[in-house]
Amino acid sequence: MTSALDLDIQFLPGVGPKRADLLKTELNLFTIRDVLQFFPFRYIDRSKFYPICELQPAMASVQVKGTITNLQTEGSGHKTRLKATLYDGTGMLDLVWFTNIKWVKEMLKPNTEYVVFGRISEFKSHISMSHPEIEEFKKFSAKNIQGFVGVYPSTEKIRNANIHGKTFRAMIEASFEKIGNEIISETLPAYILKEFGLPNLRETYKILHMPSNLADVSKAQFRVKFEELFWLQLGMAFKKQVHTQYVKGFKFSRENDKLLRLFYKHHLPFSLTGAQVRVMSEIRADVESGNHMNRLIQGDVGSGKTLIAILSMLMAIDNGHQACLMAPTEILAQQHYMSLQKLLGNLPISIALLTGSTKKKERDSIHQGLQNGTIHIVIGTHALLEDIVQFNNLGLCVIDEQHRFGVAQRARLWKKNSQTPHILVMTATPIPRTLAMTLYGDLDVSVIDELPPGRKPIQTILLRDSQRLKMHGLLRQQIKEGRQAYIVYPLIQESEKLDYKDLEDGYASITQAFPLPNYSTTVVHGKMKPQDKEYSMQLFAQGKADILVATTVIEVGVDVPNATVMVIESAERFGLSQLHQLRGRVGRGGEQSYCILMAGNKLSNEGKTRLESMVQTTDGFELAEIDLKLRGPGDIEGTQQSGLPITLKLANLAKDGNIIQIARRKAFEIIEKDPTLQLPENNILYKGLQAKNIQKISWRDIS
Ligand code: ADP
Ligand code: MG
Repeated sequence: MTSALDLDIQFLPGVGPKRADLLKTELNLFTIRDVLQFFPFRYIDRSKFYPICELQPAMASVQVKGTITNLQTEGSGHKTRLKATLYDGTGMLDLVWFTNIKWVKEMLKPNTEYVVFGRISEFKSHISMSHPEIEEFKKFSAKNIQGFVGVYPSTEKIRNANIHGKTFRAMIEASFEKIGNEIISETLPAYILKEFGLPNLRETYKILHMPSNLADVSKAQFRVKFEELFWLQLGMAFKKQVHTQYVKGFKFSRENDKLLRLFYKHHLPFSLTGAQVRVMSEIRADVESGNHMNRLIQGDVGSGKTLIAILSMLMAIDNGHQACLMAPTEILAQQHYMSLQKLLGNLPISIALLTGSTKKKERDSIHQGLQNGTIHIVIGTHALLEDIVQFNNLGLCVIDEQHRFGVAQRARLWKKNSQTPHILVMTATPIPRTLAMTLYGDLDVSVIDELPPGRKPIQTILLRDSQRLKMHGLLRQQIKEGRQAYIVYPLIQESEKLDYKDLEDGYASITQAFPLPNYSTTVVHGKMKPQDKEYSMQLFAQGKADILVATTVIEVGVDVPNATVMVIESAERFGLSQLHQLRGRVGRGGEQSYCILMAGNKLSNEGKTRLESMVQTTDGFELAEIDLKLRGPGDIEGTQQSGLPITLKLANLAKDGNIIQIARRKAFEIIEKDPTLQLPENNILYKGLQAKNIQKISWRDIS
């Protein structure tokens, strides 16, 4: 028996094939079920009228009652519009129509009271309402409309096709009529509904579309949000369970520790921080278990993730395997290569560097060495992903700064081996806990929440363009003390040309303020040839240049402990996490370091909050929370919602952290009790996962 829920929307009264097509392409509404699940994003109290004098453009949709005092057509040709003036005793509001002019003009009666409902827009500080829903007050009050009316998401094309809230409400009413008394089959087991006091689906739809009070709305919204997040978490719990059960990992044993012991004893210049020790024991537990390790290491900039990578790679080598370390940029790969050479140089290990600029001859010999196993560790960029790169026995794959790599790209790396190598993903972009639960919910997560000892907190100073000389003063003083400084310029795709001009102008004015022979300044940006970039970086890394002027190519990973000043130009144009990354380039030695944020004289409120947060805290996790609140999760690098296997209609990863936790706890609890979801009461869940295709997404593609 087919359900009315599956009926095509074109059969709803007032819709028809043409509108149906538009609703399908614009709003993904195909069936009656979709219509019922097309939820308002806000509600308006239709028993109340706003006084016109209180209207603000930010209010979006409002309801107003007034008399039409003036009605006239303006302009000509396709620019013709109809303008009516609505007066309510407190002020005048312009109502504007661009289409259906003749019809509206004939319908409207002057000196009659109307109720209008629509979006407020502002043009040249004059507010108006275009294409409002409008009804004579007499008729409106006869209908005795009470309570709250939903405001539905829409698009420009939908509005142009004259489909408005009224149309949506009619569609929804008709949908309820079509389904009549048909049972809407539940998507959650009865025991979950009961445990959390959730309304059933029919009630939920009824409330969300035709609420009588806002308390009910919150309850129904909770059900929808909970359900969306619960499916995500259940998918992850299931995937994780399958992974643990079926994907076997290479088993490493500490009895094989040889190089690792040697390294600890003779080559490690400092002792591990408590957090590093803890993370190492977590990794150790993974690789000794016989399970496959799939672990994310989160650690603030400068927390010492490279060392974790090195120790883990030694462990792999001690157990007869090769290891690889993949970095997002050539500069970073080179840096890693150098620090590994420095730290491991005296051990009998062969380390190779493979990047886009590795010469053909050397490249061939590296490919060979990886295949026959004479190379133990390879560090590289995307060049590692090429099909020609084959390993003899890859046991561990470390991926640094993970947000720079696409998910599919990473998967290519570990599909190179017949047996999947252990995976360690390192990210320096702290992600708020609840967000991490959703985005990396099926990974094990380790956190390095402690910086190596002796670091002085970086002092952050916010300056306006007009205070530039102050910045110069600080630079001079630091350089005099033998320190070095970065000056970073933003680079955004859209205005790349202008950005490079900023950089060039900046470089010119810096070399003028800091002239040779007393000062030496060098420059690095993405348009330079790799050799030139490398040369310039080396000048700075070796202390031969005092100032490095750069674009964000230096954002990740670069490690020059003698650099104590980070100047960020047009700082308001950077996101918080990027600012934090950049700041992390200094404060790596024992000296007091400074981060100077140069901001334009005009700042948006959000920009101001961002920069002030930077001044107030150096804690990456705290900044990530602020960022999440300011921008929402979609904008945080690497966390685009499109990466989720389900579209979230009501749940908001930024705001619904507590619901995420509740849903996660429940989902993991269920999988723990019933790993394959075979219990009768979980049948709904088993089927749901299959239908949603969540568990079929390979863990390999998620990382
Ligand atoms: P990140 O986590 O940002 O990748 P790095 O691994 O580059 O940080 O480490 C930052 C700096 O801290 C490096 O110069 C490194 O040598 C140093 N470092 C790492 N661990 C320790 C430690 N336990 N004690 C002292 N210094 C350390
Ligand atoms: Mg690093």
